[in-house]
Amino acid sequence: MCSITIMERETIIAECHRLAAAVAPELPTLYILGAPPDGMPAPSHSTAWATPQHVEPFTKAHLESRGAWRGPAPAIVLQLDRLLRECIDPLATFAHELTHCLPARPIAEPESSAAAVRNGQRYSILWAELPADRFADGPEPWHSDHGDRFIRIFIHVCHRAWEHDFKFLAGGCAAGERYGLSHLLKYAAALDDEPQRLMGSTFAEIEATPVPQAFADLWAADVARYTNGATV
Ligand SMILES: [Zn+2]
Repeated sequence: MCSITIMERETIIAECHRLAAAVAPELPTLYILGAPPDGMPAPSHSTAWATPQHVEPFTKAHLESRGAWRGPAPAIVLQLDRLLRECIDPLATFAHELTHCLPARPIAEPESSAAAVRNGQRYSILWAELPADRFADGPEPWHSDHGDRFIRIFIHVCHRAWEHDFKFLAGGCAAGERYGLSHLLKYAAALDDEPQRLMGSTFAEIEATPVPQAFADLWAADVARYTNGATV
């Protein structure tokens, strides 16, 4: 069943940690798991996910049991077995999930009462067991924070990663047909040289910088097109 050795899994996770440190040194701690934490069912609807602003109880218990808990911090879970089986690049997937964690935001200490932990676990199990097609007739395809803000940060993440010699393809990880939007390259062109100009900025500073007009126009046109029922 398992197509990936422990060594391969550790190598990929170490590479993801290196990427995060190079791209976003503002994130002091980031947990990266190569499979769902102990006790959580493997969701069929997601090959990876991030918890940027809350501590998921199964993840906390998993880290504590391995002596790896360092306090509240964002966590990224990659279903590495499945990603590799489906020929999806783990590094590109990680760049997507890392984008969800940026800019760095404070995370409160999780409630530790037995009832709070139980409720949190119940929520996680419900989420994990949602059907794969749960949004088939649901909201816009860029729901769950995959809109203009996400696309902009993702382009910066990729630019920085590539500048540090990480090699992965980003198509399909933001914007494009999958999200009912123009291709990622079109958004990158609309950002112009912003990723290069703001290489030394934190992601909070990037978000505080007015977005180039061409980028805002492209986003507005995509949303209007989608709302009017036309395809890209
Ligand atoms: Zn996402």
